[in-house]
Amino acid sequence: MIIKDIEDGLAALDHQHLRRHRRVIDTPVGPRMTADGKPLLAFCSNDYLGLAHHPEIVEALCAGARRWGAGSGASHLVSGHLRPHDALEERIAEFVGLPRALTFSTGYMANLAVAPALVGRGDAVFADRLNHASLIDAALASGAEHKRYAHNDIAALEKLLRESAAKRKLILTDAVFSMDGDLADLPRLFELAEQYDTWLVVDDAHGFGVLGEHGSGCLSHFGLPVSPRIVYVGTFGKAAGVAGAFVAGDTRVIEWLMQKARTYIFTTAAAPALSCALLKSLELIADGDDRRKKLAALIARLRDGVGALAADRGWHLADSPTPIQPVIVGDNKAALALSAALEQQGFWVPAIRPPTVPMGSARLRLTLSASNESADIDALLAALHASA
Ligand SMILES: *Cc1c(COP(=O)(O)O)cnc(C)c1O
Repeated sequence: MIIKDIEDGLAALDHQHLRRHRRVIDTPVGPRMTADGKPLLAFCSNDYLGLAHHPEIVEALCAGARRWGAGSGASHLVSGHLRPHDALEERIAEFVGLPRALTFSTGYMANLAVAPALVGRGDAVFADRLNHASLIDAALASGAEHKRYAHNDIAALEKLLRESAAKRKLILTDAVFSMDGDLADLPRLFELAEQYDTWLVVDDAHGFGVLGEHGSGCLSHFGLPVSPRIVYVGTFGKAAGVAGAFVAGDTRVIEWLMQKARTYIFTTAAAPALSCALLKSLELIADGDDRRKKLAALIARLRDGVGALAADRGWHLADSPTPIQPVIVGDNKAALALSAALEQQGFWVPAIRPPTVPMGSARLRLTLSASNESADIDALLAALHASA
């Protein structure tokens, strides 16, 4: 029976302790969540600005549903592109300082749109080895050669570019790496993109809302110029606290995506009320310097405390300036044990193991939010101390 393969596959996952489980959460997203009935202080969401349960966004969502209904009824190119969708596109392009934007239902779909629309067979994608899974899938879906360089190794990238005979080239990178919290060297990548006449596609899922002027993201953070070769992807499910994503860039590039991107064309447009909620979220992001300041203070407090402890325990606190603060333990079992010890004390900090991260670099992936208080950080530090 064909089902036997599945049974064997599941058994193998169990055997390797790789079967994944979900927890059911009975509270809104926030620092305090009840997971499988257990109240925990959570350091695991990507709700970096604490907007996921913001009352003004919730109200905008409700008002949007009352005004525009629940569903969009069709894809954007048929009859599903409603006024709020259009307003969101305009607003997001303006906010990130690029000529035009296109919205998508998820960041995964936005990423799958871009590389395959820009390159194909006979071309090459140059990708950081730690890129997000959606960028890997996008590179593969494009049919272009997928050349991967060691994490942030600009010299290795340059060598690949120099030696490549591909017709068209595309550099593909996370702006903030999701398991490490560090940044891509976008200025250097842009220089290489200019020098070798390549596209530069930047996925800023974790930087948008957090970094740059008024939270406008990594291009602003690094002061990159507007260039037709830069294609910028941001997502709305993390700092923006809602759902969805956008691609922003040159007017012609966005027009081309609208014509070619299968994950744009062949899917029902997101609920218009989500655009209403996002317009409110963008307002709060733009006005959110206080939230970002508070977040930066929390990050500094955590780094101070964990830094001192890490040396003692043989952990490595990754060099991250973002709300993603990985504590690299190394051994899979040790990382799981530490996560379990924290949970016993009422803290939810996920352990991340290979293959999500490289062998021997199992870690706690701590994330912070502006909705945390410094007492939360202190409590976590005390729990880390107690979990020998
Ligand atoms: C979360 C994430 C995505 C996917 O975005 P969704 O909107 O959740 O589909 C893409 N890229 C990176 C780097 C991410 O962290």
